[in-house]
Amino acid sequence: MIDDRAARLRMVEYQIARRGMTELAVLEAMNAVPREQFVPEALRERAYDDTALPLDHDQTISQPYIVALMAWAAELKAGDKVLEIGTGSGYAAAVMAEIAGRVVTIERVDLLAAAARDRLHRLGYTTVEVISGDGTVGYEAEAPFDAILSAAGSRTVPPAWKRQLVIGGRLIMPLGPLGDQQLVKIVRNGEADYAQKTLVAVRFVPLVGGTD
Ligand code: SAH
Repeated sequence: MIDDRAARLRMVEYQIARRGMTELAVLEAMNAVPREQFVPEALRERAYDDTALPLDHDQTISQPYIVALMAWAAELKAGDKVLEIGTGSGYAAAVMAEIAGRVVTIERVDLLAAAARDRLHRLGYTTVEVISGDGTVGYEAEAPFDAILSAAGSRTVPPAWKRQLVIGGRLIMPLGPLGDQQLVKIVRNGEADYAQKTLVAVRFVPLVGGTD
């Protein structure tokens, strides 16, 4: 029997805080979400490993450190409205929901979306809405967003994502061809004024329908 709570605390300390990620809200969120509930049953003992893990349908749940890094880079704060592209297990959406206000998350694989919706509901994440569909067009019905985070990589930035940011909003996404992706942060400083910077090299699954 593994002690998930102890494993989670060790994860926060060794994989996140000791790598210089010391934003309290992010550390608390990572310590609050039961990651073992989001990985396939067979991989439960590895839920707090320092790595991404496979999900069904050839998808992956991101490495904890990368989830923390994205939440930090997005400068999430209480009350923020967030859009996530690529729900997967729902883990990152839960982490973001611990910090922000409403989280809308879009997943193109219907079975993953349904499973994540059930899981988030069961765990009490009532501020997260899981949408089945194609996230390359963002989610006009609830735009604009304070932050948009993509868990799938594309060679170019989908124009809808930039349009659906508030002024001052942050977009965090893996950008570049498969095998050479960088996590980037794009800030909308004005109506047509965007600033982009590169954070770190990453490996994400492709954004289907994007330009990977
Ligand atoms: N955030 C997830 C990780 C998801 S991996 C977690 O915490 O578990 C990336 C996900 O993006 C995959 O589930 C994949 O199906 C999804 N995806 C890829 N292209 C997409 C698109 N165009 N629209 C919505 N989801 C997409």
